[in-house]
Amino acid sequence: MADLLVAGAGMAGLAAAARARELGASVDVIEKGDRPGGSMLLSSGFIWRYRDFERFRSECPGGDPELQRIVHERLDHALDWLEELGAPVEERDTGNPLTVGRRFHPRALTELLVARAGPVRLREPLHELPEGVPVVLATGGFQGDRSLVREHVTPEADHLLLRANPWSCGDGLRLGLAAGGSLSEGMGEFYGRNMPAPPASVPPEDFVRLAQLYARHAHVESESGERFETRTWSEIDVVQWTAHQPGARARYVVPDAALPERVRERTVGEMIEAAEAAGGRVERGDSATAVEVVAAITTTLGGLRIDGSARAAPGVFAAGADAGGISTGGYSSGLAAALVFGRLAAEAALR
Ligand SMILES: Cc1cc2nc3c(=O)[nH]c(=O)nc-3n(C[C@H](O)[C@H](O)[C@H](O)COP(=O)(O)OP(=O)(O)OC[C@H]3O[C@@H](n4cnc5c(N)ncnc54)[C@H](O)[C@@H]3O)c2cc1C
Repeated sequence: MADLLVAGAGMAGLAAAARARELGASVDVIEKGDRPGGSMLLSSGFIWRYRDFERFRSECPGGDPELQRIVHERLDHALDWLEELGAPVEERDTGNPLTVGRRFHPRALTELLVARAGPVRLREPLHELPEGVPVVLATGGFQGDRSLVREHVTPEADHLLLRANPWSCGDGLRLGLAAGGSLSEGMGEFYGRNMPAPPASVPPEDFVRLAQLYARHAHVESESGERFETRTWSEIDVVQWTAHQPGARARYVVPDAALPERVRERTVGEMIEAAEAAGGRVERGDSATAVEVVAAITTTLGGLRIDGSARAAPGVFAAGADAGGISTGGYSSGLAAALVFGRLAAEAALR
């Protein structure tokens, strides 16, 4: 029997397994999907933290300060570790003055971590906890399970788009609770993007390209006439609000003057053109354009409650989106928390 069992070969699980092997342990890595990488492989690859801890606290005021402090203080070292393992850095700037971090190529990072983590057994979901061996739950949250999303996040769960790998369905959450773990704060919160509506589904290669990230330049309203004004740079608040509107839909009405505004590397006009080309409902008026959007869920932010050693229950550790309560009230890098707590879970489990 191996020294450690890791369930999930995404960011948290691969970091945990690679760290455990580096410490000389034998590790079994099992993965539900037909490929390793989870949502990390689909991501933009920015692994980041807030520039200062006070900003992290004010952006995510409901998060556990001890867990936040750990991510904040250990991320830079963890990023150096990735580089020392051989992960090529694509950018050393996040482009956001509030944050610092590095951008990795998701495929190169996945391949490197798989090589360091040892063999990954594909199509092998963890169904029950083994006896006599510590486990790291790294199954990536519960956004893929509609009933759990309905229970914890929104009654409009059936209308949400899934903007993530299809296998993260709350297996870690269920197993951790059954082992005596408890729920974190912020079970109803998630990170996602508003996407064009229709299409009813978006292929993974369009997850980033079709995101409609300009609520700050629009009048946002729901079908029932409710209005919303975004107050966050990440626009996570407007996406969570949209998820609670009828059909998980909203309309962005954008004045023509806002079309040339830039959001990261694209203009508002370009994002609307991408929505139109994908079949989204776009109405061009005399002085404004209306775009219908639907909330898409990328990762749940609530999960198992963990301590500073990533422990969720005796012999059971959780990392990545299986561990909740870090970003509560806002948004922080999911890859960063997964990397830091994946490494830490392996170290604690082997002690
Ligand atoms: C389009 C997109 C862009 C993103 N961009 C960024 C970004 O730039 N920066 C950032 O910080 N975050 C980003 N994210 C979010 C980031 O990808 C996640 O926060 C991160 O991958 C979470 O890590 P994880 O290990 O918890 O989950 P994952 O990386 O998804 O890994 C979970 C793994 O567990 C497997 N699994 C599920 N159930 C079981 C089971 N029962 N047994 C075994 N295995 C199981 C899954 O198949 C999956 O492989 C993005 C996500 C997407 C989709």
